[in-house]
Amino acid sequence: MFENLSDKLDRAFKVLKGQGTITEINVAETMKEIRKALLDADVNYKTAKTFTDDVKQKALGENVLTSISPGQLLTKIMNDELTALMGGTATEISFPATPTVILIAGLNGAGKTTFTGKLANFLKTQKNKKPLLVAGDVYRPAAIDQLQVLGGQIGVPVYANLESKDPIAIAKEGIAQAKQNGNNVVIVDTAGRLSIDEAMMQEIEQVKAATNPHEILFVVDSMTGQDAVNTAKVFNDRLDFTGVVLTKLDGDTRGGAALSIKSVVNKPIKFIGTGEKMEALDVFHPDRMASRILG
Ligand code: GDP
Repeated sequence: MFENLSDKLDRAFKVLKGQGTITEINVAETMKEIRKALLDADVNYKTAKTFTDDVKQKALGENVLTSISPGQLLTKIMNDELTALMGGTATEISFPATPTVILIAGLNGAGKTTFTGKLANFLKTQKNKKPLLVAGDVYRPAAIDQLQVLGGQIGVPVYANLESKDPIAIAKEGIAQAKQNGNNVVIVDTAGRLSIDEAMMQEIEQVKAATNPHEILFVVDSMTGQDAVNTAKVFNDRLDFTGVVLTKLDGDTRGGAALSIKSVVNKPIKFIGTGEKMEALDVFHPDRMASRILG
């Protein structure tokens, strides 16, 4: 995960590590290298610029107050700033109602259906919940099958209505069934498209209006870098989602989406997907990710 970025940052740090003191000149030079590393990792341009300006200011400001070496000081500042950039502290989902309704949104192929299963498994095994999955992707029969297979694997019921092409009705029926069967969380999978599409946006807005979800999680493939960030912006403008799920981090060597998304849409990353298996899901911890990036 993020090996390319870590390597490049490590190289950028070398400029300062060999120095006895921090000066305007060697900090500026290091920041230029760090900015380059961030842009190579597909970090949003404005995010990279603001980030390096902040790190530079802190490095120059804290330099006079401390006796630690320039390399150690920069590592500490970078660690703090990367953590803040990715949201500071972990934000978990809450369960304000019974049933709590969670809507899953995103483009096709992002990993929505897989995440829907992973989340149900996580809630069942780690949070002692009794979830119900709702198959709301009515355009892709394979998506319904896929969800049913996943539900069977993890032992979580799935509500599907093969007769209907109406995702709003299906979502409502699913919630009604959860109430009847005592499921305290309902996770509604929705239909995506290959790219941003007005009909998809209208449909999911209608599902949102009809189901009043407590959480709307936007699922996006982290390997798509800035595209992921741009897609997040469009979905957030329309849906005002409550959190981001970054999938396929196991294949992402660059990390641009992880580093930019919070600062661009101002919504927390709540979960990360790290593989295809149902267990390959983690709550996102910005501080742990920052340490990992810095190696
Ligand atoms: P959807 O179209 O958004 O519902 O996407 P799917 O859930 O069908 O996922 C698309 C592909 O990505 C499938 O082959 C999944 O196994 C794979 N996938 C999903 N999440 C992850 C992940 O975190 N890591 C990896 N390596 N593959 C994933």
